Amino acid sequence: MADFCNNCAPNVWGEEIDPDIEVTRIALGLENGHFESVLCEGCGLRAVGKSDEGRPMVAILEEEGQVEDMVRWISMEEWLAGEVR
Ligand SMILES: [Zn+2]
Repeated sequence: MADFCNNCAPNVWGEEIDPDIEVTRIALGLENGHFESVLCEGCGLRAVGKSDEGRPMVAILEEEGQVEDMVRWISMEEWLAGEVR
């Protein structure tokens, strides 16, 4: 089954079903300077991380690559605001 983040899951399944990828919870559990790989089928979210300063960040798929995918790191506030597509 495909995984969806808490931004996409409500659009796919409705509010009743918990998302597979709870971005804010993942970020809270991370230490500064670390990240965790995720894969949202909806928005191309590829990783959740924390900067060295403790700022929550997310990595969005920019371009699928042969060996490695290109991602773009943005702040979680930006991502939650839905300004990045
Ligand atoms: Zn998503």
